[in-house]
Amino acid sequence: MKINLANIKKATKILNKDECVAVPTETVYGLAGNAYSDKACKKIFKIKRRPMNNPLIVHYYNHQDLKKDCIFNNEFIKLYKKFCPGPITFILDLKKDSKISRIVTNNSKTLAVRFPKHPITRDLLKKLNYPLAAPSANLSSKVSAVNSNDVKDDFGKKIKYILEGGKSSIGLESTIVDLRNKPQILRLGGLETSLIQKVLNKKVKINNNPLRVSSPGQFKLHYSPGIPIRLNFKKLKKNEAYLLINKKTETKSNYYFLSKNGNLKEAAKNLYSILRKIKKNKHKSIAVSKIPNKGLGKTINDRLMRASKF
Ligand code: AMP
Ligand code: MG
Repeated sequence: MKINLANIKKATKILNKDECVAVPTETVYGLAGNAYSDKACKKIFKIKRRPMNNPLIVHYYNHQDLKKDCIFNNEFIKLYKKFCPGPITFILDLKKDSKISRIVTNNSKTLAVRFPKHPITRDLLKKLNYPLAAPSANLSSKVSAVNSNDVKDDFGKKIKYILEGGKSSIGLESTIVDLRNKPQILRLGGLETSLIQKVLNKKVKINNNPLRVSSPGQFKLHYSPGIPIRLNFKKLKKNEAYLLINKKTETKSNYYFLSKNGNLKEAAKNLYSILRKIKKNKHKSIAVSKIPNKGLGKTINDRLMRASKF
């Protein structure tokens, strides 16, 4: 998608006034504000109705910009070189003199950081003289937004501006990796764990269901379309939508296909739009057929499992 400089200028102007702007990223749309401003960050929580104890991810143009705020380590450098910009979020220690608003981190001494790949948001980040705190641009605990219409559906006039960037190319949130001690994955996401392990040359623990939740993305009941989801069903119910990974020869009006041929990347990209569509079409619940638990299928299954705790 072409970069429209007038749109970026408009977004910059609004952000400079400590207001929020929805921005496109390759994972999902973000609800962005100046990460150095308490006022802007408070607004993000308020608009999203997000609990204040659920910290935000801060988005940077590059590692140079991050140097002011976080302490680097070797593993971060390895992963940054290989995957950034891209769908990976790092948990790092904050520097003592960092200007990041305490609202972002809920007073914690750690920060979640990411370098988004979408060219429009990269251009915006390059021009700003502060990083952007940006959680997913959806109401808290609901399905993320993958295009500007999803954002409008959730927030209407509550946000001043949506920077148009087309449909998110990955369609799932970033993979969160905690690099403070032994690396561990806190949230499965758009970057496969196996690729992270390859670069670090070691097995990385997936701390997806810990006793002590350190990342609310691990909470159950998240990513919910607002109607029940059944994973291990025997028989379809009346007025139930049927979510399948593979297009069948037999199709019915209540069948929804994540992919034509079982392609997991395509399925990931379509997942949230289809969940929103099913809700709009007034189905009362969703039954899900088995999705292969490999590669991005693991992230898709993780999201559906959490959404099924409705
Ligand atoms: P979202 O922006 O909606 O994709 O959610 C961001 C995720 O990052 C949430 O699950 C947060 O709990 C998690 N997160 C943000 N900051 C931290 C942090 N310092 N430590 C652990 N998890 C974090
Ligand atoms: Mg979210």
